[in-house]
Amino acid sequence: IKKIGVLTSGGDAPGMNAAIRAAVRTGFYYNLEMYGIYRGYEGMIQNDIKKLNSLNITHILERGGTFLKSARSEEFKTTEGRKKAYTNLKNHGIDALIVIGGDGSLTGAHLFFQEYGIPAMGLPGTIDNDLSGTDSTIGFDTACNTAIEAIDKIRDTATSHDRLFFVEVMGRDAGFIAINAGIGSAAAAILIPENKTPIESLVEKLKSRTKAMKTSNIVIVAEGGKSGSAQEIADKVKKYLPYYDIKVTILGHLQRGGAPTSFDRLLASKLGVAAVEGLMQGKYDVMAGLINHKVVFTPIVKAIVDDKKVDEDDLRVANILST
Ligand code: ATP
Repeated sequence: IKKIGVLTSGGDAPGMNAAIRAAVRTGFYYNLEMYGIYRGYEGMIQNDIKKLNSLNITHILERGGTFLKSARSEEFKTTEGRKKAYTNLKNHGIDALIVIGGDGSLTGAHLFFQEYGIPAMGLPGTIDNDLSGTDSTIGFDTACNTAIEAIDKIRDTATSHDRLFFVEVMGRDAGFIAINAGIGSAAAAILIPENKTPIESLVEKLKSRTKAMKTSNIVIVAEGGKSGSAQEIADKVKKYLPYYDIKVTILGHLQRGGAPTSFDRLLASKLGVAAVEGLMQGKYDVMAGLINHKVVFTPIVKAIVDDKKVDEDDLRVANILST
């Protein structure tokens, strides 16, 4: 391997820049040529590819987002689109790829490897933490910290007015942010996509907390919750608890932004190094992750298919602490 292309794809996540920097610096350390592929697979198809030098990656470790930019590319899902992308890579002489993204992005890397044999290394870059083969994905810790910081502020106003707040956090298919942010912000209840919570039991819980003289209640709702959006749940609960001053806050995209936490910087840095070293050792079609602080390479098909489950014990802890 002499020339490695790096791209970020799908939803952006804090720490992606740190991962790019680590991979590129490691490539330079081993005298490889490193290429930035801009705007994910879309840029690969449109030949938006540039050779990187050390100046490109100066002062990016601490910045949120991704300087390579990210995109979702429908064209890459087609065989013609992937053929164009392959031609562009060949013209640049790029002989390996590092793809930083979520399950969709890694699926693309796997397909591309199968079709064209381009060695592909995936890095788990998503705030959702929904990839197997790693304890945490790059960006997850920062997103949880951002959510907790925001909920702390909501708590101040909730307490001052004895309000009931429904706070919607990101997580269409996975409740990891909701569970972490919920436990970390003393939520009264946490509604996640993995479980369906009947409105009646939520109402009972809120009533019992009122009896216990809790002056504020915050319910965390993951956006993909089976019981509905935060607004829909708030509307239903209002019918049971008309005397409550109920408010809804959707944290939205602020959860994607901001400087990565020290945890995410370390994770991204270790995995960036591992990505290049793994490719040099002939580890292809795998995702580098960190399990118990050790780098582990998991076949991409396993990382994306084995759905990581929300820890049952976290659910138990959340329940005990909110009763
Ligand atoms: P996040 O978890 O943050 O949403 P993601 O990587 O899962 O990130 P997706 O939108 O699912 O985000 O995928 C990103 C891109 O990966 C898609 O726009 C597409 O270009 C490529 N991709 C996804 N699925 C496939 C597939 N089945 N075949 C080829 N390419 C794919």
